[in-house]
Amino acid sequence: MTAPAGGWRTATVAGLRRPIARSVELRLDVHDRVDHLPGQHYVVRLTAEDGYTAQRSYSVASAPGDPLVELFVERLDDGEVSTYLADVVEPGDELEVRGPIGGWFVWDGATPALLVGGGSGVVPLVAMVRHARALGRLDLLRVAVSARTLAELPYADELVEAGALIALTREAHGIRPAARLTDMDLLPLWEPGQTAYVCGSAGFAESASQLLVGLGLPPASVRVERFGPSALELPKR
Ligand SMILES: Cc1cc2nc3c(=O)[nH]c(=O)nc-3n(C[C@H](O)[C@H](O)[C@H](O)COP(=O)(O)OP(=O)(O)OC[C@H]3O[C@@H](n4cnc5c(N)ncnc54)[C@H](O)[C@@H]3O)c2cc1C
Repeated sequence: MTAPAGGWRTATVAGLRRPIARSVELRLDVHDRVDHLPGQHYVVRLTAEDGYTAQRSYSVASAPGDPLVELFVERLDDGEVSTYLADVVEPGDELEVRGPIGGWFVWDGATPALLVGGGSGVVPLVAMVRHARALGRLDLLRVAVSARTLAELPYADELVEAGALIALTREAHGIRPAARLTDMDLLPLWEPGQTAYVCGSAGFAESASQLLVGLGLPPASVRVERFGPSALELPKR
């Protein structure tokens, strides 16, 4: 039997790693899975014994060809859902998920793109990088990512290997001193005809988008995904 598209599904936690502090990488075996496109996300819904539910969105880090769906969750100290996923979930546990979701923040695998991510906002961009690598088309992507330190940058090794510009705000990286992402960082990555994908906190997304438009990218070519609380995600009783 096929589950209806868009409905809630059960996902078994097939793998769990903590590659960097204060975060967890979950590899999910999603039952009756619908293939995702790079950039899409899932919603994870937790239900307490008294029926209280909370749901949050998490971008997919894995490429479409991966048999498992990989999520990367940054643990927020006072976070309702991220603390549960980071501290409580174990391999073999089952989670309720809905997805894949999103039709705008999606890379088609064929057109030039400039990816700009901050913190855990790099997660959907990693799916795009992995997809490009699987297609043998890493040449289509230019990548710039930002974090406080290299140790706090999710998927740092893969991003470095993909040639990403790494902007660290609290430490130098190579010859680049500690500083926020600037237009001078992005200028060498910009090429006419690119679509830009910007993902991170609301503040990061706003400033990175402004840098790109300031460089000359048409605003319509800049696609933005903001991580943060959303009205749709308020817990329900
Ligand atoms: C489309 C989409 C994709 C996302 N993908 C990812 C992802 O791949 N990995 C990931 O870790 N997160 C991702 N997020 C953010 C995620 O949905 C949650 O907002 C985050 O995990 C916090 O949930 P929580 O229940 O732990 O915190 P909450 O209990 O909701 O909030 C706790 C406190 O943190 C604040 N807060 C909430 N969210 C954030 C945030 N993102 N950053 C800083 N402060 C916040 C709240 O205002 C509150 O003060 C995504 C969000 C969206 C909309």
